[in-house]
Amino acid sequence: MDGPSGSGKSSVSRGVARALGLRYLDTGAMYRAMTWWMLRQGVDLADPAAVAARCGEPRIESGTDPDAPTIHVDGVDVAGPIREAAVTAAVSAVAAVPEVRVRLVALQREIAGTGDIVLEGRDIGTVVCPDATVKVYLTASAEARARRRSAEVAGSTVAAQQEAMARRDALDSTRKTDPLSMAAGAVELDTTALSLDEVIAEVLRLVAE
Ligand code: C5P
Repeated sequence: MDGPSGSGKSSVSRGVARALGLRYLDTGAMYRAMTWWMLRQGVDLADPAAVAARCGEPRIESGTDPDAPTIHVDGVDVAGPIREAAVTAAVSAVAAVPEVRVRLVALQREIAGTGDIVLEGRDIGTVVCPDATVKVYLTASAEARARRRSAEVAGSTVAAQQEAMARRDALDSTRKTDPLSMAAGAVELDTTALSLDEVIAEVLRLVAE
């Protein structure tokens, strides 16, 4: 399941995993966890070489229960902190560093290799699991995506969310290594006018095909 921020990837992926009795992995949470650790260590995120030099250090562990996904860094539960604005603003720079991607993609493949699973991210269909049984590329209008995200983040306005998301999507789509793009063989689903249950039902239909 790939797509830009706010396209509904997390809710849809968890719903599909639940319906099919599968595990679920939020790969974005892993990039956020790496970013949280870099910020805490005081690594200069404007210096890709500094990020590359340290990215092998943190131990990142993801729990794959769709009802209670978890993320830990060196044993610390970071599910809350990785959603904070400082991490959100910095994550695209960290995710653009090739060494970071090599490490996290290897971890993701290791988890995906142990059985059926729903993965969500930006490069799942193109890089992490190009042989996935079903590939979905979720989209939604910029306004719908900002509206959904601002409903999740306390105290934020739709306009501010839309601006922040546009910035992050531009960085994610134009980076040199594994930019956000639709995979060959992926089905594009525009969720702008659909309810969560309708999108989940459509994905389940694709799986059953
Ligand atoms: O999905 P989420 O918005 O939490 O992802 C946070 C960031 O992690 C994205 O903006 C992107 O920079 C990066 N990411 C990525 N590849 C993935 C998942 C996320 O580069 N597979």
